[in-house]
Amino acid sequence: MYGHLAVFDFDSTLTVKEVGDYDVADCIERVFGGEKRFQIIKQLFQELGVSNVTIVICSFNSHDVIQRALHESGLDCFVCKIWGWESFFHLPESKKSLVLEPFILEFNFSHVVFVDDSADNCRDIQNNLISTFTNVVFVSEKGGMNLVHCGRVMQWLETTKTDIAAAPLPSLLDIV
Ligand SMILES: [Mg+2]
Repeated sequence: MYGHLAVFDFDSTLTVKEVGDYDVADCIERVFGGEKRFQIIKQLFQELGVSNVTIVICSFNSHDVIQRALHESGLDCFVCKIWGWESFFHLPESKKSLVLEPFILEFNFSHVVFVDDSADNCRDIQNNLISTFTNVVFVSEKGGMNLVHCGRVMQWLETTKTDIAAAPLPSLLDIV
């Protein structure tokens, strides 16, 4: 059993824009909006990591672009799994709940936080992810997560922390 799961959207949630192939080469600047903001995201991942929270990314961008951006920035060591648009190809609808629900059930996560800049995705999770209670953090501001959203994720962790017992799933680096 894995206790806590943090699900992040990629484009304009972790990133400051819709990320294309060409952005990856200058990753810190073009994907994360510069060193200062990148460190905020990295620190959040570090803090979740030391608290045994499993971190996954669920996005409609391509798996390859996301994986390369994480690798270039060194964030890949914190991330356990990436769902890109390819993961939704065979599904009846492009709904994030449809890939997250089986994953949560398979690994028996008891606490989930979902961070996304799309109101539709947040609504989908609120309405259709029924396996466990999910805290939804809606990134309504343009330009992706900031300190306020990171604070909400840490608040979720603090309020549910006493239940953390199990180790997180291995990171991408452990699997490769
Ligand atoms: Mg997005």
